[in-house]
Amino acid sequence: MPFLDSFERPISYLRISVTDRCNFRCLYCRPAEGISLRRSHEILRFEEIERVARAAASLGINKVRLTGGEPLVRRGVVDLVETLASIPGIDDLSMTTNGALLAKYAQDLAQAGLKRVNVSLDSLKEERFREITRGGRLNDTLAGIDAARKAGLSPIKVNMVVVRGLNDDEILDFARLSEEGWHVRYIELMPLGPAVEWRGVSVGEIREEIERHLGSLEPAKVDVGGGPARYYRLPGAQGTIGFIGPISECFCEGCNRLRLTADGRLRPCLLSDEEIDIKTPLRQGATLADLREILSQGAHMKPPRHRLAERVWPQKRTMSEIGG
Ligand code: SAM
Ligand code: SF4
Repeated sequence: MPFLDSFERPISYLRISVTDRCNFRCLYCRPAEGISLRRSHEILRFEEIERVARAAASLGINKVRLTGGEPLVRRGVVDLVETLASIPGIDDLSMTTNGALLAKYAQDLAQAGLKRVNVSLDSLKEERFREITRGGRLNDTLAGIDAARKAGLSPIKVNMVVVRGLNDDEILDFARLSEEGWHVRYIELMPLGPAVEWRGVSVGEIREEIERHLGSLEPAKVDVGGGPARYYRLPGAQGTIGFIGPISECFCEGCNRLRLTADGRLRPCLLSDEEIDIKTPLRQGATLADLREILSQGAHMKPPRHRLAERVWPQKRTMSEIGG
């Protein structure tokens, strides 16, 4: 029996935020003054994350992604990867990272059972990269991508959030990387936390600019992921170009995911503040059956679609607390 929500959508994907900490403070993601970080006892322990993942897998969730904050700043994350990779039923274990620490960990992550990584990269210009991330070094992230490739964590998808007046003049530079075999994805900015101060660029505009300068995009297939991106290819390119347009091309009808926050809340929809406390039951000895019940409740709380068009968006958390 597939695990379905109230709208008959199969739920097969769990995104786990392993920390609310981050080594970057991207302009549109984390406020300059920082966020009030949870204390370590408020963050789920690895053993608690494992219990949730086992319950999820027993319901039919086969895809798990680790995110954050920055997942690679959590001490011992390679051990967590190893544990999750050994859970029967989880066959696609991946990570979203800013890549700064990937050069250090890529090999160990691959050995521990991580299948692939998505790397967030918003600029190919050193100075601008530092400005957007408030202190990050472009070369570290590029070295991370290189190390991930050598470790076989592929396909590596590079995610660029396009922000008007900040990095929208680099759309074509990123598209050209697909001609060198990269898988590049453009993501529309969503209005959460500091992002409300910025304006995004719609995926339609991005696509138009690419086609105007670099040629027609032909639909392409990407073997893994099955997420909301629509993939294309420039003529003759080995790599692909993906578009994720949560605002202009709402993909809620195919939503297949639940999210677990670092502080132990189950979040049925990225763009709604409704959450269920799963940490308290975990700490009170919840059984596998109890956890399955909570996950089912979470699935049934998923709304049919987000309400951004009605100007309803989450107020309580920033993206760096949810993990994207
Ligand atoms: N630190 C990791 C990283 O940057 O990849 C994982 C967490 S980060 C919150 C996950 C993704 O969310 C990143 O690709 C980031 O660019 C994206 N993101 C953050 N705020 C966003 C927003 N307001 N709209 C769209 N994407 C956003
Ligand atoms: Fe950190 Fe990722 Fe947010 Fe940047 S996008 S501040 S790297 S969590």
